[in-house]
Amino acid sequence: MIPPQFDYVRPADVGETLRILKEREGEAKVLAGGYSLIPLLRYRLASPALLVDIRDVSGLDQIAEVDGELRIGARVTHHQIETDPIIASRYPILADAAPTIGDPQVRNWGTMGGSIAHADPAADWPAVLIATHGSIVVESADGRRVIPAREFFIDTFVTAIEPAELLTEVRIPAPRGRSGGAYASIERKAGDFATAGAAVQLRLDDDGRIAAAGIGLTAVAETQFAATHAERMLIGTQPGHELFEDAGREAAAQSRPVADNHGPVEYKRAMAAAMVERALHRATERAREA
Ligand SMILES: Cc1cc2nc3c(=O)[nH]c(=O)nc-3n(C[C@H](O)[C@H](O)[C@H](O)COP(=O)(O)OP(=O)(O)OC[C@H]3O[C@@H](n4cnc5c(N)ncnc54)[C@H](O)[C@@H]3O)c2cc1C
Repeated sequence: MIPPQFDYVRPADVGETLRILKEREGEAKVLAGGYSLIPLLRYRLASPALLVDIRDVSGLDQIAEVDGELRIGARVTHHQIETDPIIASRYPILADAAPTIGDPQVRNWGTMGGSIAHADPAADWPAVLIATHGSIVVESADGRRVIPAREFFIDTFVTAIEPAELLTEVRIPAPRGRSGGAYASIERKAGDFATAGAAVQLRLDDDGRIAAAGIGLTAVAETQFAATHAERMLIGTQPGHELFEDAGREAAAQSRPVADNHGPVEYKRAMAAAMVERALHRATERAREA
């Protein structure tokens, strides 16, 4: 189908973008890679009067460590994350997740900001942000908000972003001490969205016990969520096979999958448990090596 008619602008900087979003509040939509928005327009599931294309907006395409945080600009593509040397050496949880997203074409065009703002429950980045206690920076003509990832994803395709706000940056705390992270997911075939996925970030104390644990789940509820019960049961314990099996079961018990062409509910729960267990083992190995 052909999309409905819309106006189109290509601002050059964040200030101009925010001014346009304020002037056309409620009728404008930001266009980043277009890999989710364009299909919505073509199926006429969205019909904004104005598209604000941010491809020329300066300052949103950087990856850098600043003040103890990894900062990823909203326009950074999945491919940039997949090939970034800082991420490859210090943020394995991101390095695990990036290549699982779509295919090379999707990763070349799709952006971190677009994926987060779109909030598809099967998208891979939200669980990573939840596990790492990341945050999302949104700006409007009236100011800036830094929203913890655990408060950002509200429902299927619903986030805390207001219509006149632009997502400008994603922040992830830099790993400290003996920390390790991992992302594990299962998909029906290469290039598919995940059937289930789990992001895990752990920190070990001097005795090798788990001092901090973050677990985010992909595709097994109306939105990505923190497996808080499993997180709590891990704190203060020695990592081990049985513990991780129990934590996987506990995380899966908190999930609310629906049956679809990826499989029935019980299969998805079983996969969620297996992915949590797998990511816990990998994160622990990495924390021990850190
Ligand atoms: C075939 C295919 C396979 C895919 N597989 C996967 C997968 O396995 N895992 C996965 O996670 N994703 C997958 N995706 C989705 C892909 O990652 C997209 O990149 C992502 O969903 C949207 O990013 P985008 O830059 O294309 O955003 P767009 O499509 O341009 O925008 C998406 C939404 O976000 C809003 N938006 C974009 N940027 C901003 C911003 N800076 N501030 C405010 N709002 C903004 C737009 O207004 C729109 O509502 C797949 C997509 C396709 C087409």
